[in-house]
Amino acid sequence: MRGDSSKRLPLNPSQATELTPMKITRCSTAVVEANYDYTYVRIFNDRGEYGTGECFFAPGLTAALREMFPLLIGRDPREVDRLARHLWRKGSGAGAVAGYLYNAVSGIETALWDLVGKSYGVPCYQLLGGKLRDSIRIYADCHAGDNIESWGPMLTQREPEWLRRLVADQPQHEERYESELYRERAQQMVSAGFDARKFDIDSIVLLTGEELHRPLTDAEIAKMVECVAAAREGAGPDVDLAVDCHWRFQPSDAKRIARDLAPSNLLWLEDPCPPENIHDFADVKALGACPILTGENLNRRHGFWDLITARAVDLVAPDIQKCGGMLEGKRIGELAEMQGIRFAPHNIASPLGTIASAHVCATLPNFVALEFHGSDVPFWPDLISRPGRSGPLIDQGRIHLTEAPGLGCELNELVARQYAKPGETWFA
Ligand code: MG
Repeated sequence: MRGDSSKRLPLNPSQATELTPMKITRCSTAVVEANYDYTYVRIFNDRGEYGTGECFFAPGLTAALREMFPLLIGRDPREVDRLARHLWRKGSGAGAVAGYLYNAVSGIETALWDLVGKSYGVPCYQLLGGKLRDSIRIYADCHAGDNIESWGPMLTQREPEWLRRLVADQPQHEERYESELYRERAQQMVSAGFDARKFDIDSIVLLTGEELHRPLTDAEIAKMVECVAAAREGAGPDVDLAVDCHWRFQPSDAKRIARDLAPSNLLWLEDPCPPENIHDFADVKALGACPILTGENLNRRHGFWDLITARAVDLVAPDIQKCGGMLEGKRIGELAEMQGIRFAPHNIASPLGTIASAHVCATLPNFVALEFHGSDVPFWPDLISRPGRSGPLIDQGRIHLTEAPGLGCELNELVARQYAKPGETWFA
């Protein structure tokens, strides 16, 4: 045995004692009716501490969460992975080896990390292995011009009171798919400090449900190229630009789009064709015209495995509020790293979920940018507070993580509760 044990530092007696037991005593939910349903989970321990996580929206989500809560009561919240796997197994009885039960699991998993971090006094990124960067690059989702919308869990359009007031107060553009709007929106986001942004181009086509069964017209593709060129002009040459197709087009059209958009030097072309066949993505990628991204609807590493091992895309975009949670998001990012695939998480969450995603991004070397989808929601920045920090969460297109324990933020309930979804409980 090497070394002189007499020179070792003595153990602090408090470090040598066994961990004090900790138990989950209560779980609850709350929903904010914003551009989507921001669905929160709160988990309490027997010391009066709690953690909060956020789930991607889904129909019946809070009912599913309430079905899961009895599986957590009395368990040790520090066994985050054990509890998440327990929920995977229990969900499999209902056939949920993937799908939106994982939205619920993801929010619970994040709430556990927040609780454990707060209890130990360390930020979540430390629990995930420590950070590789101090600030997280944020890209602004710009839709297809300036508009404000709110969608229910089955993507039915709705108009909560805050939106009714907003629409009454500000003029709305009836036509959203004109190049001038793309240019103006790109300029707005430069002024707001973002150096990466994303636009939708699928809605330029008149969406009738037939677009997968007919070739796109030259005029439709020309309009896409015109709008993206206008966004590029508005953004300037030094700003990154991505575009999203929402799985709309058949592979042959996806290839035409990719070829014609190549001069715009895209950061990525997102979901150009339906998600069922990874070979379609691989074919578009093989053109080398644009980097290809997908992954926002996939769950756990298992959902990403074929895509990553086949190197069918250039970037993966797990949604941390949907893919299984923070640790599972990191694992997906690490699998991608092993195949030279970059990591750019999808994110439509409130600031709380956005910060949870930022903690994951901080720990991955292949991270590119994290989505921000709330620029049109007037109360988005006010939904959280951060201990010891004032000012906007997103500063010049970056989130700066702090040393505050857990996620490093709290839901600002004075504000959030004003937008509570009717019919849902508020952390009751
Ligand atoms: Mg997308």
